[in-house]
Amino acid sequence: MLKVEKIEDVEKVEMGTEINGVIFLTTCAYVYSDMVFDSGCSNARKEFRDFVIRRNLDDLSVYLTHFHEDHAGNAELFNLIRAGEETKKILVRGYDVPPYRKAVWGDFEPLRGKNIEEPDVDFIEAPGHSHDHLVYFIDDYAFVGDLVVTMKPQVSFVSEKFVQIIDSIENLLKRDFEVAFGGHGVFSREEVEGYLAYLKNLREECLELYEKGLSFIEIYERVIGKPSNKAMMFETFSSGEWSRERLIKSLISVLQVE
Ligand SMILES: [Zn+2]
Repeated sequence: MLKVEKIEDVEKVEMGTEINGVIFLTTCAYVYSDMVFDSGCSNARKEFRDFVIRRNLDDLSVYLTHFHEDHAGNAELFNLIRAGEETKKILVRGYDVPPYRKAVWGDFEPLRGKNIEEPDVDFIEAPGHSHDHLVYFIDDYAFVGDLVVTMKPQVSFVSEKFVQIIDSIENLLKRDFEVAFGGHGVFSREEVEGYLAYLKNLREECLELYEKGLSFIEIYERVIGKPSNKAMMFETFSSGEWSRERLIKSLISVLQVE
């Protein structure tokens, strides 16, 4: 599945995989001016390639926010790949994609022999979701990758360090932008500000309850409540790569996450 939608002056290219007739998750690439930000997932390669060729985008640079397969999955379609030093190392070396992510997004082939250079636009390092994460700024727009995924996270990914995510969002908000284009959603500056306030407050609540001696799951029930079916599905199908407990541990910063 591939859907193109114009938001302000940016084209959002949303793609996903149909599994038993249902699309569980989608990921977005963006086209702005003569630049492409992130490249979607390889399961949608054929449709995305058709789009890229139809629009003559293959001669442009693609700017990657981080190495995950739903962002770097089709980078090889572009003449030049722009990425941070850490991202480049992983993209060239390659990595194993767990089976459930292969089903949802597709596999990732190492980008050997490809042209990968440092970004030539304004960016900041924004670790937290992954250690290699960058955020790009052009005009009134920020391309934020997975630094902001949802306004109310209910589960946390294995590499996520929420204390770093809070710092990175603070750094993001030091910059001028009006719209944040993310891998899984588009947010206004006000929404990002609200998200930062929410996370900081959530962290305070978690720390207080942790000091009172509550277990991680008890803290979860107090601060988040009953998880959605989607959150539980993530936890089950990912064999715990996404989890409720990790969200609390990550907010308290008691987890040495990899
Ligand atoms: Zn990611």
